Amino acid sequence: MRPRVVVLGSNFGGLTAALAVQHELAGDVDVMVVSASDRFLFTPSLIWLPFGKRMPSDITFPVAPTLEHAGIEFVHAAATAVDPAARTVTTDDGAVRVYDYLVVATGYRNDEGVVPGLENTSTITTLDRAIETGAAWRRFLEQPGDVVIAATQGAGCFGAAYEFLFNTAHQLKKAGLHKRTRLTYVTSEPFLGHFGIGGLPHGEQLLGMFLKKQGIESRVGIALERAEEDAIILANGERLPFSFSMVVPPFLGQDFLRDSGLADAKGFVPVRPTYQSEKHDEVYAVGVAAAVEVPWTTSVPVGVPKTGFPTEQQAHVAARNIAHQVRGEAPTDERPFGDIKAVCVMDAGNNGVVILADKMLPPRKHGVLVPGPQAHLMKLAFEKYFLWKMEHGYVQLP
Ligand SMILES: Cc1cc2nc3c(=O)[nH]c(=O)nc-3n(C[C@H](O)[C@H](O)[C@H](O)COP(=O)(O)OP(=O)(O)OC[C@H]3O[C@@H](n4cnc5c(N)ncnc54)[C@H](O)[C@@H]3O)c2cc1C
Repeated sequence: MRPRVVVLGSNFGGLTAALAVQHELAGDVDVMVVSASDRFLFTPSLIWLPFGKRMPSDITFPVAPTLEHAGIEFVHAAATAVDPAARTVTTDDGAVRVYDYLVVATGYRNDEGVVPGLENTSTITTLDRAIETGAAWRRFLEQPGDVVIAATQGAGCFGAAYEFLFNTAHQLKKAGLHKRTRLTYVTSEPFLGHFGIGGLPHGEQLLGMFLKKQGIESRVGIALERAEEDAIILANGERLPFSFSMVVPPFLGQDFLRDSGLADAKGFVPVRPTYQSEKHDEVYAVGVAAAVEVPWTTSVPVGVPKTGFPTEQQAHVAARNIAHQVRGEAPTDERPFGDIKAVCVMDAGNNGVVILADKMLPPRKHGVLVPGPQAHLMKLAFEKYFLWKMEHGYVQLP
């Protein structure tokens, strides 16, 4: 009998892992993807959706045709339990599926409990919430006032907060509101441009310059105490009133992973550099679902951004190691998260910054930030290219 690989999740990590393992072992393996969502979502474009610059259909596609074309079975269901001893996955449709190898790529959910009253603010970290944020933005345009964009204590996805901040500034200017709107950025980062990766040379000055140029105020290295209907209260007692707000919270993993004994208290699966779970040789975890230790202590906790590029890299490493195991070899591919290259584009409306470094986490040899309008154009081109690449299943392309 051919070995069966079950992949949980069908976004950056899951889709890449499923197609890569099928590619590695063509014909010698049965691959099944089980996912709570039947559409791929290009999350980086959620920064544009509230401003009406993207519709959900522009940044999503159905995964079943892509997977089925590659000979992979797709099941639209959410996993509710994994039994690593029996090697089974239970789903919310009541079915129990057996695996020889399991890849967990179930990503994140928002830690809504991090700040009391967070439900009073908007966010863009999921498609549904980004659509709601669009409605909040349209209400704001009718009744403008102050704007607060924040990344809370423990957040890691600072890139999205910065991108949304600068896109908001750009939209305020287009609407002729920039002179009478107080726009404030609140962040747990110890300095501007830390990004949850420890910062890069000249990053603090560059981000400071971007904020100054757009007339944006900042509150740095501070936690949010609570959110009220129309104000954010900071840990030092300062009250920042808002007519529109967008807050990036920390991410958690999925509860069923913790309940199944695979994950830590936050729902992230501790992994080895091979992306095998620390506990089980035949269980892998990639992307946001894989635990990453935060390598620094800051007075306000700051997370690490588990971005798309490392997620894809981890998925390829996991696929190659599963292929090794299926062939009876040792799973020798290793690429620890911190050693993966940092490759990112921060969009700023009609401008941006390209972020490149030899490693996600310090110590690094090289790291560079390249600002300019070409970064915005690169982001637009990358969106089209990436969606095309994933929809056609060309995960071997860069
Ligand atoms: C607003 C925003 C902007 C971003 N911008 C960038 C950027 O510019 N560049 C960049 O590199 N990264 C960016 N990121 C980060 C990027 O989104 C993540 O790196 C990426 O989503 C990680 O992919 P993943 O597959 O691990 O998880 P996810 O994308 O979270 O996918 C998880 C998958 O698992 C499925 N799932 C969840 N629960 C279950 C379950 N119980 N059973 C089965 N399936 C389940 C989901 O339906 C989904 O298919 C951004 C993130 C956000 C929120």
